[in-house]
Amino acid sequence: MRVLLADDDAVSRKMVAAMLRKWGYDVFAVSSGDEAWAVLQGRDAPRLAVLDWVMPGLDGVELCRKVRREMPGKDRYFYLILLTAKTSREEIVAGLEAGADDYMVKPFDPSELHVRVGIGKRILTLHEELVAAQEALRFQATRDALTGVYNRGAALKRLEEELDRARRECKPLSVLMMDIDHFKKINDTYGHLVGDTVLKETVRRIQGVVRSYDVVGRFGGEEFVVILPNADGDMAVRVAERIRAAVSARPVTDGAVSVSVTLSAGVAAAGTAPALDALIQAADEALYQAKRTGRNRVCTAPTLCAA
Ligand code: GH3
Ligand code: MG
Ligand code: MG
Repeated sequence: MRVLLADDDAVSRKMVAAMLRKWGYDVFAVSSGDEAWAVLQGRDAPRLAVLDWVMPGLDGVELCRKVRREMPGKDRYFYLILLTAKTSREEIVAGLEAGADDYMVKPFDPSELHVRVGIGKRILTLHEELVAAQEALRFQATRDALTGVYNRGAALKRLEEELDRARRECKPLSVLMMDIDHFKKINDTYGHLVGDTVLKETVRRIQGVVRSYDVVGRFGGEEFVVILPNADGDMAVRVAERIRAAVSARPVTDGAVSVSVTLSAGVAAAGTAPALDALIQAADEALYQAKRTGRNRVCTAPTLCAA
């Protein structure tokens, strides 16, 4: 683990740096609070800092206060240990109140510094694990477990955001609702596991022909939504047609099984139905028209058929 050490006294700095290195830390030593502040603001800054209290310019306590005030990020915690010759209760309380996690009174016993730096390391490691777990949970909560694309809730949220953006920037936006044709028959004929493979492969093919900033979501069982920022109705029909063609181009294989898959799509452009519910409903109606008129085709809201 990397440690930032700030101490204006060269002898003390060298001594503490040597100890930290001996204990296996990567030491980044600076001689003022201002330099320490600059280092801590860096993108990949050390999270553990040992700061001398008295330094010219920004002192250790001011530095603690500044870190807590200006970098309160929940995702990035700095563990700050103050080194001080001050011993009065008031001073120590003031140092801790400024935001230090711990303090050591100089001259100190090396083994005590070793233990206290170790506590900082342990807390930072726990914090990092917690942040990573939270991140993983947040990711899981927005994804469909089978296909990895956005789940219904997250897709609707993204649609809301993209609609807002499109309105703000006066840009077009379109939505595709797509549903695999006769999927129940695929399940009934080949079993659910093959059905699952078909769902995953369909998503893979959809993703293969949309742009990276288009949003793909699983809306329900075998129903998918694609949000196309910056695409008007004509462009959206072309994308839907591309998806339809990619999905039906060749059978999906799973072991020895080979399954022909088609899907139907409904297209709605935000220009005609600017509210989220109305937009989804318009795309849905277009999808059901595609189903009614023979499947494996693209229809646009409200009544135009394109394929
Ligand atoms: P249509 O062409 O009219 O859309 O007919 P369909 O058979 O595709 O539609 P229907 O809604 O009747 O059947 C959808 C089926 O999808 C029923 C359901 O059991 C199945 N399904 C839903 N989720 C999953 C899943 O995660 N895995 C598998 N294998 N099947 C699923
Ligand atoms: Mg279906
Ligand atoms: Mg369905």
